[in-house]
Amino acid sequence: MSESSSLDVDRLRARYSAERERRLRSDGIDQYLETSGSFKSYVRDPWAEEIIERDPLFDEVDVALVGAGFGGLLTGARLRELGVDKIRLIDKAADVGGTWYWNRYPGVACDVESYIYMPLLEETGYMPKEKYSKGDEIFEHCQRIATKFDLYRHALFQTEISDMRWDEDGDRWVITTNRGDCFKAKFVSLATGHLQKPKLPGIPGVESFKGHTFHTSRWDFAYTSGDSHGGLSGLADKRVGIIGTGATAVQCIPHLGRDSQELLVFQRTPSSVDVRANRETDSTWVDSLTPGWQRERIENFQILTAGGIVEHDLVDDAWTSITKKLLAMRLNNTSGLSPEELAKTMEIADFTKMEEVRARVDELVDDAATAEALKPWYRQFCKRPCFHDEYLQSFNRDNVRLVDTEGKGVERITETGVVVNGVEHELDCLIYSTGFEVGTDYAHRTGFEIYGRTGESLSEAWEDGVRTYHGLLLNGFPNLFMQSIAQAGFTVNFPYLIEIQATHSAWLINEALTHQLGPIEPTEEAEAAWVETIVLRNQGSAESSANCTPGYYNKEGMPDDRSRQSGMYFGAPTEYGDILREWRESGTLTGTTQQREGERHAQRNL
Ligand code: NDP
Repeated sequence: MSESSSLDVDRLRARYSAERERRLRSDGIDQYLETSGSFKSYVRDPWAEEIIERDPLFDEVDVALVGAGFGGLLTGARLRELGVDKIRLIDKAADVGGTWYWNRYPGVACDVESYIYMPLLEETGYMPKEKYSKGDEIFEHCQRIATKFDLYRHALFQTEISDMRWDEDGDRWVITTNRGDCFKAKFVSLATGHLQKPKLPGIPGVESFKGHTFHTSRWDFAYTSGDSHGGLSGLADKRVGIIGTGATAVQCIPHLGRDSQELLVFQRTPSSVDVRANRETDSTWVDSLTPGWQRERIENFQILTAGGIVEHDLVDDAWTSITKKLLAMRLNNTSGLSPEELAKTMEIADFTKMEEVRARVDELVDDAATAEALKPWYRQFCKRPCFHDEYLQSFNRDNVRLVDTEGKGVERITETGVVVNGVEHELDCLIYSTGFEVGTDYAHRTGFEIYGRTGESLSEAWEDGVRTYHGLLLNGFPNLFMQSIAQAGFTVNFPYLIEIQATHSAWLINEALTHQLGPIEPTEEAEAAWVETIVLRNQGSAESSANCTPGYYNKEGMPDDRSRQSGMYFGAPTEYGDILREWRESGTLTGTTQQREGERHAQRNL
């Protein structure tokens, strides 16, 4: 019997649609609350040991790197390799690390393979301990990169930018901060991260809870005891509730279940949780590696997970297994299928994969009703797939209970607990694992405004949606690089994209410094053409995304032209990187104010 004949396609379609419907909200209540004002305590820095005392700075640097996560670090490293000297990292955290500085919740780890996720392994001579690294190992690697490439020199931590203005007379960015600084930079690279501002759920009464409460992204170990590896002995006599069941919750719930007296998991939409299968790094494999191995492995994974074909699947994990099954068909339609037939074939493959994921729930969860509630009824990439080997089993513990809100979400929060379907669940501690702001204005997310060449702010320039050239340069904002996933290449391994953008920015900065070029910005025409390309390439995904269960991937079920415009560059697996590389190789700086003809100036350091 073929796969498709064992599937009741109409029933599955109807079920997916019903699940989507019940999750859509029409009550007019804001889905999420900002962690500002009276909720600001949710984003305080629990890790800073002291407030760094320093005098304000009024100097000048070549490059200001805003954000000291992978984006800032990789750009800094590539700039150093090219010999750029005065580089300043700026971050509100007390150290480098970005997401790996902030997220230290118990169980924090990366479910993308460490050998491809952790950048610059060959350059730093480091080999991760396991196939999937834990958060503290990745954080230490960030520190290793900063040390190796001398990026702590000139760095400003615990520093928040107030605003940035382009000084047309001096051709410099003037940067002011909450520390009284007012320094200049020839170039600015913004690597402020995609998921950096935690958000709270818009649940009535959220401000009234009198027990202990915090967000997973700022875990309160002073209350729970333990560390990112677990050992939460402070919860041994506590009734704990957690709201949210996304990728973060999937990692911390096994620890909460193990250590709390009682754990209640409040679920709105279940995650799709597949096998992770972690293991220690094999020293024989390490000994067999030859120079260039990491780049080869990263590209191999990128090609497979973006729908291409390779001879050997080097990473060979659940990510590549899923994408081999689901995406390869799209790019490799050699069987002459019509677009409709192809869409149907892909839908069947998706149903088949998700049936496997649902069958895994039945295999691992003892109680039938709980298992039923934990099954995801949507297409695989409607939400971020999760991979974990202990999450589902947590629900077999006597002290762990799933409180399924059937797509509706928690009804109300009271002084003493959480209300679902009219029933109040009393709690000592309530943990929000409710994710991060996505799709809000850049200035809103980062807390600072950027004023460009004409004095126009970034918020004004992007009023009708994100506008970039190559997902990096902005018309009206000279010598500025915006590193983000918006209008940049598709990947599931973000450091792959960061590396492409870091290499490109560093090359262009060095080119400008070496040849003493004037300010570089894209022309309006070049930017408009790139935006149009993005919008066109997102048409296909727009329809399927609109049919997806709501979440931050599809603007809570209501994607619009604006969200489509901030989509990624969909194309062949390595197409985005190839476009940027070929652009550099041409040496003509096409589409910018410094466009030049003829001779290939820029052969070095590609
Ligand atoms: P998410 O935004 O993915 O999850 C938020 C959760 O909160 C969802 O389950 C959401 O439900 C739930 N929620 C929101 N409001 C309510 C409500 N009113 N009532 C009940 N539930 C509610 O955030 P995460 O922090 O889990 O993950 C964010 C991203 O971080 C991931 O998508 C991933 O990209 C990254 N990440 C990566 C990891 C890795 O290993 N590489 C590990 C952890 C995170 P609903 O789904 O219905 O909206």
